Amino acid sequence: MPNRQKLTYHTIFLGAPGSGKGTAASRLGAYLRIPHISTGDMLRESVASSTDLGTRVKAVMEQGLLVNDEIMRELVKDRLQRADCRKGFILDGFPRTIAQGKALDEILAESHKRLDFVFVMEIEENALVRRLSNRRICPQCGRVYNLIGLKPRQEGLCDDHPVALIQREDDREETIRKRMTVYRENTLPLIEYYRNRYLIVTVNSDATIDKTVEVVVNTVLERDSTLRKKEEEV
Ligand code: AMP
Repeated sequence: MPNRQKLTYHTIFLGAPGSGKGTAASRLGAYLRIPHISTGDMLRESVASSTDLGTRVKAVMEQGLLVNDEIMRELVKDRLQRADCRKGFILDGFPRTIAQGKALDEILAESHKRLDFVFVMEIEENALVRRLSNRRICPQCGRVYNLIGLKPRQEGLCDDHPVALIQREDDREETIRKRMTVYRENTLPLIEYYRNRYLIVTVNSDATIDKTVEVVVNTVLERDSTLRKKEEEV
């Protein structure tokens, strides 16, 4: 029996706001039992608890702009050093600029790791605005709903807590358009940065979230099975 190499799942999701990357990332994390790390959620928590960081980033976030690369690098570096990331992680919302992509490569290289998967969520812009303006969040657990596609069982309430759902400050139409521009200018160039260097998988997320998650999970399973086969041939 060949010595089984440990499979790792260092994963990032790229995609415009509202492309479904958060939901897909969270489901993949639960499936693989590795942490789903949303930098947006981390920052929102800091704002909610008025930490130093929260106070510094609040205004930038409310305008739909990007938090400074150096702040983001430190935040992510600290998080990836925790023990629960040993088998991998699902990063959602980081990197968002070429500088952050380079920083992530450096952070991983320091512990002799590299990315295993880069998922790129593609969706048409009008569908995005429709999706985002209908997005609602549970302020207690962060669970995400959509008034069109992913409704709560009881109108306006989280399925897991009896708490009223809220709309994110930056999910209003004007801020959504601003966030799209920021995505096109800063984050889209990362797709070229990763092309040919990692397993880039483009996922059409116009489909239902279940279909999207199925594509993502199958990609991971196929990679695992290919690596296992190769190992057994040796
Ligand atoms: P998200 O929940 O991923 O849409 O992020 C919400 C907001 O948090 C963004 O509009 C940015 O203001 C900020 N943010 C989250 N991740 C990053 C990042 N990697 N770089 C810069 N700003 C970020």
